[in-house]
Amino acid sequence: MKDFKRRKDFLPFCRPTIGGDEIDEVVDSLESGWITTGPKTARLEEEFRIWSGGQEAIAVNSATAGLHLALLTLDLKKGDEVITTPITWPSTVNNIEICGAKTVFADVDRESLQILPDAVEAAVTRNTRAVIPVHFAGAPADLDPLREICSKHGLHLIEDAAHAVGTRYGERLIGSDSEVAVFSFHPIKNITTGEGGMILCRDTERAERMRRLRFHGISRDAWKRYSKGGIPQYEVIEPGYKYNMLDIQAAIGLHQFKKLDSFNRRRKILSENYFRLLEDIPEIMPLRPPGYEHTHAWHVFIVRVDIEAIGTGRDEFIMKLQEENVGTGLHFPAVHLQKYYRERYAFRRGMFPNAEWNSDRLFSLPLYPLLKEEDQEYVAKALKKVISSCKYAGGQP
Ligand SMILES: *Cc1c(COP(=O)(O)O)cnc(C)c1O
Repeated sequence: MKDFKRRKDFLPFCRPTIGGDEIDEVVDSLESGWITTGPKTARLEEEFRIWSGGQEAIAVNSATAGLHLALLTLDLKKGDEVITTPITWPSTVNNIEICGAKTVFADVDRESLQILPDAVEAAVTRNTRAVIPVHFAGAPADLDPLREICSKHGLHLIEDAAHAVGTRYGERLIGSDSEVAVFSFHPIKNITTGEGGMILCRDTERAERMRRLRFHGISRDAWKRYSKGGIPQYEVIEPGYKYNMLDIQAAIGLHQFKKLDSFNRRRKILSENYFRLLEDIPEIMPLRPPGYEHTHAWHVFIVRVDIEAIGTGRDEFIMKLQEENVGTGLHFPAVHLQKYYRERYAFRRGMFPNAEWNSDRLFSLPLYPLLKEEDQEYVAKALKKVISSCKYAGGQP
């Protein structure tokens, strides 16, 4: 490609948007004498509670921790089965194993990568206890049929909403009417607290148990014990974990949460722009959002590369993009083909064909509010350049 000029600086796949408000609020916490779980964490929980229309909100130090707490409240026993998607971050699935249950996968839709309700229903057995859909890439999983299946078979529905702060299924905000939904505030997610997460949950007793398990299983939060009017005594109700969010983290989150709508609007504009830019690149196939009514949070912009047409594998393709100073992400290689899962369950290729087809081809383009339209134009040019170098490698025309 004659007109292609490699940019000098590396275009990262992701970059958090941190402003003066977040920085000032963190400094305020640092200077206040209270830096761990405290009033700011309580405020962030209160804001999520109000936003969700009254759900219980429990702040944690990661979505992984939140999913663990949610599964702990199911009291899973050996032999119990939990159905989830093979196209997810490993922690969704690892938590099932850590809780001693058996992982069962259901395949995804080939174009949206959302878990298929029919495949979930086909995977239900006498031992199934729960289903964990992932609201993938910022679009919602197909909740109505999933809820119908869960209520028909008496199953819990735990939503991995790590990608879905601000996503709507129909008119309903993800988390607002969930048994349990868990958001992530990792730096690549739509809003961040450095590391962190939020559980939204319908049932008050269950929420109380998760609050307890998040902090050693003791019956009282430390900041309530040590602030005026608090009592220093505590009681261990059941052995718990150390999953609490710091006020330093909540300080960032309070301002990120205020900006959620503007962040997501910007992500939508950028995503629409990618669709336009990719129209004349048939070798690069974006995911297609699901057909049911929804509001997309555009967490990641995932494409599949036509490895047959270009005669090059995905891994080599993204290495070449990196040489052109374009960073990419992988969301996600199929979990059932990871070493532990292959060996534990004898999962093989051929079992979840849609997941596998995508797993071999997918990668994510740079997407974050600070990305510029000219960066996207550069990405499109770099894609074309790499495609032409792959196609004609080896001296063909
Ligand atoms: C990021 C992510 C998680 C884990 O979130 P953490 O806050 O990093 O623990 C879980 N599930 C999915 C689908 C994710 O993308």
